[in-house]
Amino acid sequence: MAKKAFVHSVETCGALDGPGLRYVLFLCGCPFRCIFCHNPDTWSLQGATERTTDEVFSDIVKYENFFKLSGGGATLSGGEPLLQSEFAAELFAKLKACGIGTALDTCGYVDITDSVKECLRLTDLVMLDIKHLDRVKHFEITGKPCDKVLRFLNYTCESGNKVRIRIVVVPSLTDSPVYFNALAKYLTHYKSSIELVELLPYHDMGKAKWHALGLEYKLENTPSPSEDSLAGAEKIFEQYGFKTLRTKR
Ligand code: SF4
Repeated sequence: MAKKAFVHSVETCGALDGPGLRYVLFLCGCPFRCIFCHNPDTWSLQGATERTTDEVFSDIVKYENFFKLSGGGATLSGGEPLLQSEFAAELFAKLKACGIGTALDTCGYVDITDSVKECLRLTDLVMLDIKHLDRVKHFEITGKPCDKVLRFLNYTCESGNKVRIRIVVVPSLTDSPVYFNALAKYLTHYKSSIELVELLPYHDMGKAKWHALGLEYKLENTPSPSEDSLAGAEKIFEQYGFKTLRTKR
């Protein structure tokens, strides 16, 4: 019987979550509670729709021509898609069998189970968020330590995946030349696997969702990073030999 997942929503022509035009499936559930999350409504299963891999696959293949023309494909995001890794692996197997590209947008806070390994084996591009390298800061941002994420980074790079590192640039949390240098230096161990470092400037557009859910938004008075600091970050990563991309969400 086809595996099922709790689905939050679908974006059929996404241009921000991987190369080309993407079919982005947002799955429910996340181990983190990032204080800058713009999708807190994906955390719980409330309002989720249960869908099988067959149902999702038959929806995705309708867009096959767009994927071919744009070099795109399907992206699993969330929430954290690897919390439902059996579904993810089965869906990616179906997509790969008909030549559709696969990408995974993950926070990396997962155990490396057999189904996670299988999913990664079938993933063309892993987009891994590094919230912070420092354990205390990571805990402050996400509510969890960073060790598991760094183990995941190691596993996915060692396994030969192509990896894109995503960094949310937040003033007073991740926005400093000292931190960018430390992170760039750390990532040089994995340089051959990392296709680029993607910088996502913080914005507070998710704030309304926090308020609607009755949650306290801790970054109420935090501005977006300045052009100077984003350009400075790009320069630092480029000095370490990484390509960079700036993405506005
Ligand atoms: S990992 Fe992503 S979805 Fe989960 S809380 Fe953090 S920003 Fe939100």
